[in-house]
Amino acid sequence: MQIGVSLSRRCKTGLEWLNQNLRALQVNIEDPYGYFADRITSESLVSLAESLKANVLVVFARDSWGRVFYRGSAIYPLHRRTSLYVEDLVSHARRKGIQVVIMVDHTANRFIYRKHPSWAQVNIDGEVVVLEHYPAEERVRDPHWPQICPNSPALEKFFVPEAEEAIRITDADGVLLDSFRYLPDSKKACFCSFCRERFKRETGLDLPRRLNEEDEAYRLAWEWRYKITREAISKIKEAVTRVKPETPLLYNSHPGGWAGRGNRVLEGVADIIDGVFAEATETDFKGPGFLTFITKLNRGIVGGEKPVFVSRNAFYMLRVPQSPPPLHVKMGLWEIFASGGKPWVTVFSSQLFTDPRSLEAVGEVYETIDRIGEYMVGKRPLRHVGLVFSNVTHDWYLHAHPEYYVGETIGFSLMMMHSHMPFEIIPDSYLEDLAKLAEFKCIVLANTGVLSEKAEKTLKRYVESGGTIIGTHEVGVLREDLTYREALALDEVFGVSYEGPLKWGYIYLDLVHEIDSELRSSLWNGLPEAIPLGDASSVFRRERADPMLGESVRLVARSAKPLAFFRIAKSAYGYEYTLGRSTPAPGRPLGMPAIVLNEHGRGRALYYAFRLGLHYDRLGHPDYLELFRRPLEALVATPLKTNAPPTVQVEVYKGKDEMIVHLVNHTFNQRMLDAPSWPSRQTIPAFDPYYSIHPITTIIPLRGIYISIRWDGSEKVLVRDAIEGSEDIIVAKNGWAEIPISELREYKMLVIEPRG
Ligand SMILES: [Zn+2]
Repeated sequence: MQIGVSLSRRCKTGLEWLNQNLRALQVNIEDPYGYFADRITSESLVSLAESLKANVLVVFARDSWGRVFYRGSAIYPLHRRTSLYVEDLVSHARRKGIQVVIMVDHTANRFIYRKHPSWAQVNIDGEVVVLEHYPAEERVRDPHWPQICPNSPALEKFFVPEAEEAIRITDADGVLLDSFRYLPDSKKACFCSFCRERFKRETGLDLPRRLNEEDEAYRLAWEWRYKITREAISKIKEAVTRVKPETPLLYNSHPGGWAGRGNRVLEGVADIIDGVFAEATETDFKGPGFLTFITKLNRGIVGGEKPVFVSRNAFYMLRVPQSPPPLHVKMGLWEIFASGGKPWVTVFSSQLFTDPRSLEAVGEVYETIDRIGEYMVGKRPLRHVGLVFSNVTHDWYLHAHPEYYVGETIGFSLMMMHSHMPFEIIPDSYLEDLAKLAEFKCIVLANTGVLSEKAEKTLKRYVESGGTIIGTHEVGVLREDLTYREALALDEVFGVSYEGPLKWGYIYLDLVHEIDSELRSSLWNGLPEAIPLGDASSVFRRERADPMLGESVRLVARSAKPLAFFRIAKSAYGYEYTLGRSTPAPGRPLGMPAIVLNEHGRGRALYYAFRLGLHYDRLGHPDYLELFRRPLEALVATPLKTNAPPTVQVEVYKGKDEMIVHLVNHTFNQRMLDAPSWPSRQTIPAFDPYYSIHPITTIIPLRGIYISIRWDGSEKVLVRDAIEGSEDIIVAKNGWAEIPISELREYKMLVIEPRG
């Protein structure tokens, strides 16, 4: 295989370039007065991209104030201070083998708003929906970033012609809808006259003004808003390709923003768009694992084939003009690359002229990916565990509180990352496709509250033919039409009867009573007799305990074998220590099954009658991880063994004969995530300000670790360190290739090939 050769230097046209070894640089000139605009030129941007080994440049063709960065617009005024002309940038970049993606058609547009205030999106309180951030108690007045409604005449009079004009004049290589937002949640949803009229015309109903999921019109309006977005994006795509066929359209899904609704929009437009941009600012607030989760989530949603770009900002938190320590940026980029995303660095003009130090770190990573990225082209992630992320569950199961559903799935994602279990994230559509399910050894249904009839049947067949499924809490209590099953989906497969949810506040897992000693010592050795479920409420207004953590379901084990039971807590909250907020002591055994295992057909089904992932997501306590890892490893043979600590991320990809292993070392200075102990009655000032998040400054190198991979190729195995270029021959034994790693610093890529 040839690495780092001409492919990445040659400009490709049409859609073809999207599949190359790409490294993007997004430069945003984004302030009303253009503080730095006259200092940015097409020459300076191309030479910056070249120096960083970036081969994709992303810039505004039109900004949120409604100005363009190209000459000759018949629609918008030219930015008064710009020295950057995108048409020059495109021709200049093309000569250097750099693709240019333009951002157009963001719904935020002050120019349209000032001309036609009535074309703005207006929320349920009659306030203009804005993209900018106002303090909660401040009124929205003369906003900079008002959202324009796609149901207003703006779509035909501005957005469609804008897309046509921008691509015609600039001849760019791709178009990004960076912020095309029209949301269903009532505080951001539009109730303008155009929306009300159109909804009435199309459904015969009034657009409902109250959040009420039991109102049919409300449900209809929710889904209708996604339809509006899809239609608008479809029109924009047509406009772009009318002018320049085969121009890729990318959509910014912002997977961790906008209440996660962008993931549902993405699912709806997956057939229209050509790639995803997963904006990932939240990573600075969430820590390692977040970038992995959203990369895999968006890849799953678009079906695994279309490229997923994921961003690491060149700045830190929201401190746009300041460079973080270089390692902070590098580790984010390695996590994106290892998870299968295409790295994308976002920088704003203030940083370029104030503190661009972190770009040096970007250059280092991009130079390496330029050399080794070709190895990843055409490789597929190893399919082992499929973690379900159901958009329909996200929207409807806990409707107003989707964050708890996300927490449950993120918890499983973190548990698998920390126990080196290869996993992919799969959307609803996979659950109705047996061939797709069959690529995985195990499917995790983490509180997948809504499951279609077809998915239930398909999953049943999956287990009958030898697959393993794992479910938590309420799996499929709702059908896709939101009717209740009054049972769990797949209850026969899980070998249980469901008798409804129980809201305890706190409850305990019982790993001792009625569990035979052999099972106990093989599965739960070293774990305590009782493990608490539930934790203090982070709101602490009326409820003392978090309502979702201390909830379980009542199961009757039919054919299933209990692996653990529940114990009641001695009291509703703890009397010890911080009386009223602490965790209560464990009380009597309840004899109610909490974890059960069933054999069904040729497969197995494991069920947790509580939200296990949510506990791990919140607390990270290894006891919760062990409750998952041990049964999973007993049920499904692991394809990977390692003595590396949980802070080492291992990602495995397969080619025809070869395998690629990424190792990302998240062992760094302890990055403090500081949580408040929340207010209560008679609150007095805190000891220190709650909220401190520290950046990554130092990586702790690891020595003496090994990675052992299941290997069914030749006995002799060639292991190449892709970055160093060094090669070793090892001998596979009993179907395993054990690879010693002499030292792991930030990141390593291993290429493993059969050697004759
Ligand atoms: Zn509207």
